[in-house]
This record gives sequence, structure tokens and C-alpha cells, in this order.
Amino acid sequence: MTATLRRVLLDACRDLEDRGLNRGTSGNCSVRVDGGLLVTPSGITTGDLSADAMVLMCDDGTWAGDVAPSSEWRIHRDAYRHRPDLDAVVHTHSTHAVAMACLRRDIPPFHYMVAAAGGAVIRCADYALFGTEELSRNALAALGDRRACLLANHGMLALGATMPAAIALAVEVEALCEQYLAACTAGEPVLLEDAQMAQALERFATYGRPSGPEEPHGR
Ligand code: 13P
Ligand code: ZN
Repeated sequence: MTATLRRVLLDACRDLEDRGLNRGTSGNCSVRVDGGLLVTPSGITTGDLSADAMVLMCDDGTWAGDVAPSSEWRIHRDAYRHRPDLDAVVHTHSTHAVAMACLRRDIPPFHYMVAAAGGAVIRCADYALFGTEELSRNALAALGDRRACLLANHGMLALGATMPAAIALAVEVEALCEQYLAACTAGEPVLLEDAQMAQALERFATYGRPSGPEEPHGR
């Protein structure tokens, strides 16, 4: 089982790098396991990663072996405590998410796809040094009941029930940041109203399911 999950994590890192969402040692990811998590190691480039290097951690923050877990293991561990329904976490330093995070701006309801993260706004967490408990606290506060947030002057977090879902959300958040910044260069984007975002959220509850409403568009 763990061998399969180690492979899932390695594939996720490669996928994130191939999509340009992470480069070098930037970012990290994890999956939930019984009693803890399996997380990427700290400071190893994707090119040098192997499935064996993934670090198995207990929920209390301990681990065995001589490879250190990601410096952001607290965010991953705390995210699983915060969201018992979600089993995968992705953290990226993707360009447009970083740009928004450096402006310390929430992603506002400029597009209905913002609702893909579970709310009308994707918040930007307050700044704290990478790898700290404070950053984890700030991230959870920004997440609230959402599945994604930005991290001020740092990057983004995306959570999912599965690793493909977490990666898909990270891709979407990066696209939303790019689209919002592009719109801002031409003027002030018109924001959707609360009721319009509530409708989008309602539609997302059944989106893509056979018995759900017609898909808003092909994805
Ligand atoms: P790690 O290599 O320790 O995971 O650090 C990368 C990172 O993105 C820290 O925020
Ligand atoms: Zn980071």
C-alpha cells in the first residue's frame, strides 16, 4: 500500500514540474495514510526524487529514517486534521499564484470557477516564515472550509480527496490567478454578486456527476 502511495507522490511531483507549477525544490505534496501522512522529502529537486525518499510521518510529527520530511510537514499534517474528508495536499510556488500572493490579494469572485475551491473567494493567508507552525496556523485560517488558499509572499495550497483532485485544483487556482491578473491589466474586473456565486457553488455540488445538471462547459 505504502509502495503505491510513494509512487503516487513521485508521479505528482513530476506532474507538477511538467506543468510548470513547481521548479527545483519549490513546493511539496503529501497523501494521508493510516495514523499519519506520506510527504515529500525536504530540499530534493524533482529530478533527484525517488519513491523511496518519500517520508512516512506519524501524526505526532515523528518520522524514521535519515531523510528529513518537507519543511512544511506541519501544514500537511494540520490540513489532514482540519479536513478529515480530504486525503491529498499540494503546495506550489507557481508563478501567477505567487504574483497574487505577493500582492497579498484574495482571489475575488471575478469568475465562477473560484467556486471550485468551495467558496466565493480564495483567501490569501497572512505571511509567516516558511516551515513554521505560524504559517500552518495562518494557512488553516485562510482555508477555513475551502480547499485552496494563497500564502502571502510564498505560493498556494490545494487540497483534494485524491491526489489527482488536489493537482486539478492547483492547476485551476494557478489559471485563476493568471486570468485575474490579465483582466486587471486591462481595467477593473467586474465581480460576481454573492447570489451568483451561491448559484455556482450549488451547481458545483453536482457538477460532473451523471445525475447532475448539464455541465457548464466541457472540461
Ligand atoms: P521543502 O523542500 O522543505 O518541501 O520546501 C519547499 C517549500 O516550498 C517550502 O515552503
Ligand atoms: Zn513553499
